[in-house]
Amino acid sequence: MQSKDLLQLTEKFGSPIYVYDAEKIQSQYNRLTKAFSKVDKLRINYAMKALSNVAILELLKEMGAGLDTVSIQEVLLGLHAGYAPEKIFYTPNGVSLEEIEEVNAMGVQINIDNLSILEQFGTKHPNVPVCIRINPHVMAGGNTNISVGHIDSKFGISIHQLPHLVRIVENTKMNIVGIHMHTGSDILDIEVFLYAAEILFDAAKNFKDLEFLDFGSGFKVPYKKDDIETDIEELGKKLSKRFKAFCLEYGKELTLIFEPGKFLVSEAGFFLAKVNVVKQTTSTVFAGIDSGFNHLIRPMLYGSQHHIENISHPKGKERFYSVVGYICETDTFANNRRISEIKEGDILCFRNAGAYCFSMASNYNSRYKPAEVLWLNGEGHLIRAHERFEDLLLNQIPLPVTTAAI
Ligand SMILES: *Cc1c(COP(=O)(O)O)cnc(C)c1O
Repeated sequence: MQSKDLLQLTEKFGSPIYVYDAEKIQSQYNRLTKAFSKVDKLRINYAMKALSNVAILELLKEMGAGLDTVSIQEVLLGLHAGYAPEKIFYTPNGVSLEEIEEVNAMGVQINIDNLSILEQFGTKHPNVPVCIRINPHVMAGGNTNISVGHIDSKFGISIHQLPHLVRIVENTKMNIVGIHMHTGSDILDIEVFLYAAEILFDAAKNFKDLEFLDFGSGFKVPYKKDDIETDIEELGKKLSKRFKAFCLEYGKELTLIFEPGKFLVSEAGFFLAKVNVVKQTTSTVFAGIDSGFNHLIRPMLYGSQHHIENISHPKGKERFYSVVGYICETDTFANNRRISEIKEGDILCFRNAGAYCFSMASNYNSRYKPAEVLWLNGEGHLIRAHERFEDLLLNQIPLPVTTAAI
């Protein structure tokens, strides 16, 4: 997508808005399937928590993707978008037995990540095909907020509990069809990923009726210049070979599953906001935009560095800015960032705004959530309208008497 298109869309639909480039999502999907084209049975389940607009779900469905969901509400959205139940995986953490049973009754593949629920579910429903989530305790990436395979992580059944896990499966005679891991969000080193995969292969040998192995995700995409990115092609080469060898050893052609979120949608997304005020203080120059962590929280939550460009005046002299929001909290998007000279009214474009951006937006400060636009075949389609005042009142119930009368 070009800056002039983004500017035009901002003029047409108003700021702040999210814009997603369909072509980029498609090319990332194709890149992944191509990297693993040697695997006979490959399945890509899009981790929809990254970006859950129904139009995006439909786009990926058309490409042949399945879905990875983490809540019953995501399952409902997936069904609404037209996914067949058997194309949906449900990989929750810390949810109730009742929710798992409800999702299972919809025909969706469930994935259980603790021994307590496994034993209860297996006792009640021994014939249901179940996937189990293993925690291989492999540290991927450095940020503990987004690394979920390490020893203190709440995710998955520890690989050290395998003996107990096997005993539960034998006692309940439950039907284990898949093994899953998801080690975290930043695979910087393919060897680390392959090491975790070996742990999964080892665990898999304990189960005789497997149909698939699910390696989760954690594919890293570049956020800033010179960022390391997961070498998908290299991973594809190495893991495909190892996977095929494992299938031979196991005696059955298994399905290899990935569930990428960020890899598919991060770089396809642009967040566009208008500069309300340029404020010179004694120590810095603030560019205050018509947004805040209510719309894009990753910089404040994870310290993520989203590239920011002044697309209204891209050729101006570069200056240092602190880009901040309008929320009554410290909501700093960037500190001491070199940006082409900013004037009030300019549109700033944030890159990598496809994954975990809109989907984490809130109404804090009673602000409206932004609109979303899908750029498809050279045209912008509004796929979510800006919120209105009525949306803030939705579900609020006035007291039958005024509080003054109580
Ligand atoms: C969030 C999540 C993913 C997707 O992770 P990305 O880093 O966005 O690719 C995959 N699997 C599970 C179980 C998740 O919770």
